[in-house]
Amino acid sequence: MTEKYQTEEIHEECGVFGVWGVPDAASLVYYGLHALQHRGQEGCGIVAVNDEGYLKRIKGEGLVTEVFDESKVSSLPGSMAIGHVRYSTTGGGGIENVQPFLFRHNTGDFSLAHNGNLVNSAQLRKYLEDRGSLFQSSSDSEILAHLIKKDAIDRRKPRIFAILEALNMIEGAFAFLIMTKNRIYACRDKYGLRPLSIAKLGEGYVISSETCAFDTIGAEFIRDIEPGEVITVDHHGIRSRQYSEYKRHAMCAMEYIYFARPDSDIEGCNVHSFRKETGRLLAREAPADADIVVGVPDSSLSAAMGYAEESGLPYEMGLIKNKYIGRTFIFPSQAMREKGVRMKLSAVKTIVKGKRVVLIDDSVVRGTTSRRIVRMLKEAGASEVHVRIASPQIKAPCFYGVDISTYEELLCAHKSLEEVREYLAADSIAFLSEEALFTAGGRNELCLACFSGRYPTALYQSIEEANKDGKF
Ligand code: SF4
Repeated sequence: MTEKYQTEEIHEECGVFGVWGVPDAASLVYYGLHALQHRGQEGCGIVAVNDEGYLKRIKGEGLVTEVFDESKVSSLPGSMAIGHVRYSTTGGGGIENVQPFLFRHNTGDFSLAHNGNLVNSAQLRKYLEDRGSLFQSSSDSEILAHLIKKDAIDRRKPRIFAILEALNMIEGAFAFLIMTKNRIYACRDKYGLRPLSIAKLGEGYVISSETCAFDTIGAEFIRDIEPGEVITVDHHGIRSRQYSEYKRHAMCAMEYIYFARPDSDIEGCNVHSFRKETGRLLAREAPADADIVVGVPDSSLSAAMGYAEESGLPYEMGLIKNKYIGRTFIFPSQAMREKGVRMKLSAVKTIVKGKRVVLIDDSVVRGTTSRRIVRMLKEAGASEVHVRIASPQIKAPCFYGVDISTYEELLCAHKSLEEVREYLAADSIAFLSEEALFTAGGRNELCLACFSGRYPTALYQSIEEANKDGKF
């Protein structure tokens, strides 16, 4: 009997990537999406514009390498393309929710890819359906397309004005790419919750959720797209407009802590450097009387290095991750786990035996994985395990496209620090302060809503509605 693998990893909803003005744009998007694969593994797609201005799409469920092969990518010719990797949260799974969306319309076809989550989607969907819109999917990303086209009857209006107007109606976290037969529009929410950057490649331009994808294809970073900004990329080069005067720099702290690749730079701060600095600050805030520092692979390794450097304790590879477990791997059943079959992480006995271990992890969501790791280290002979978490306690759900589970499932939402320590069976426990996150990134602002419950946007949902959605 097999069991579907249950993970407590947090998932980002999506990643977007676009290329304008470079031959074989779809191949570049393929490589770009591959570099963004960590942001979503459930589905992906590419839409390309051929020389006749026709938009063609290929999409599917699965990893980029599962959905695309050479012949599929080469069947998308042209020098403009956008792509998307998806992890399904809002709207659920299913092929109809895999992006980019493609809309055929008598005023001109266009395609759209979105990372993030709209908080007023229920209100907008009702508003649009009342006006006659028919939605193809349950994803809230489609709402923007309907808003852009709602006044299509007014053909004299340049499309950019319809886009600016539509962006002013939506609220929440987003990085949108909109592609027509001539240009790409790249839009970022006015709160600055999701990252989006632009780079130069030859005579053309590349836009990506993360800068690591630029390095993969040899593109040269130009700048981040600003909160509330819409960049138009076409034969005029790049042109900028603000859709909103109001803007903030409330970047999702979890991008730095967990989601983004360590080789990405977000708003001028390298992700590995940020994590390493949080480790250093954690060592200052919560020193431990121990022999070695061990990080949970992969996202906690940078913080573990920082903790080790600052504390003067040796950094050791006390946990090893099996990198070859794919999504389709048959994970051990409860019975097999009881027989000792552990697939994803192993403790290295010869390293941890008889040692007092400082265990560095990036975050605690439900706590089930952390608990398992502490037990694993003790079974491997560690004499003490001191848990140090390189982020504050997660106490509230995320409404911005991150799969941070419901209030009920969040370990720290219900327990005191001592109860959390007891649950994890750790010898001591400490979490990083919120202030340390600002210091680590050299920032004045961040979204910390899942730690503090202070949301940067209105939520447009009563507690009762959120409760119905399982959020509270
Ligand atoms: S609530 Fe947490 S996960 Fe969601 S955007 Fe804010 S910091 Fe990121």
